[in-house]
Amino acid sequence: MRVLILGGSHEATRLAERLAEESAFAPVLSLAGRTRNPSTSPVPSRVGGFGGAAGLAAFLRSGAFDAIVDATHPFAERMSANAIAAARETGTPLVVFSRPLWAPRPGDRWTESPDAGSAARAIGAAPRRVFLTVGRLQLLAFEAAPQHEYLIRTIDPPAPPPDLPRHRLVLARGPFTLADEIRLMRAERIEVLVAKNSGGDSTSAKLDAARALGVEMILVRPPAPPAAPTLHALDDVMRFLRAPRHCAAP
Ligand code: NAP
Repeated sequence: MRVLILGGSHEATRLAERLAEESAFAPVLSLAGRTRNPSTSPVPSRVGGFGGAAGLAAFLRSGAFDAIVDATHPFAERMSANAIAAARETGTPLVVFSRPLWAPRPGDRWTESPDAGSAARAIGAAPRRVFLTVGRLQLLAFEAAPQHEYLIRTIDPPAPPPDLPRHRLVLARGPFTLADEIRLMRAERIEVLVAKNSGGDSTSAKLDAARALGVEMILVRPPAPPAAPTLHALDDVMRFLRAPRHCAAP
């Protein structure tokens, strides 16, 4: 069974690993090509955009794919919309494999912002020590709040570097442990954590660390989830793939 996995997330890697173990599947993992050194793929992969929904539809047809799994990051709105359109056009069964978003717990100092600009404003006027993990493409918005001291964690170095007078970069890829996150946030005397609400377990330790240390959390809300059947458990995705003809394209 030919399965196209739209990747760029921990879920996509987990699914690729599972499909690689089963000879009944011939998966292809598709990556946008944003990170310089993506995690190694256990299945054949391809890199780069398809050329919109029409390009993806053509790719699905030429590769004779039997199903498509949208396992992109919750903020990858355009790719998810293209996947729905291409699945419809070609009649390919589609499922979204995503993680539940993070939610505040009692006692959390938690604010949600609709976008990076609002998150930057929510830090406040007075200078604070900020742990910024929104990804390198969202850093521009924080240049409007240059009074803060930023510890910025990204996978690849931002290019150009952010125009922030007081910032330091940490280049690292999750998952991160709670002990490491606590150590880092303590050592850096972090007062505010600003992150995307991406959900899932692989990068949630920073929230637990912020909770443990009483650090304020500002979470950027993701776009509306794709309007397609959505599963959060890998076993459920496997069940879907084993019976794809029972599931119509959205
Ligand atoms: P996006 O805005 O939804 O996608 C922009 C364009 O990039 C798409 O229209 C598509 O180009 C191409 N693309 C995206 N994902 C692709 C994939 N898996 N395979 C092939 N082409 C893909 O997405 P984005 O926010 O720029 O994110 C890009 C990738 O990084 C996504 O795959 C996502 O899973 C991953 N990622 C994103 C974030 C985030 O915060 N946005 C965080 C971590 C990882 P064409 O129209 O030409 O096909």
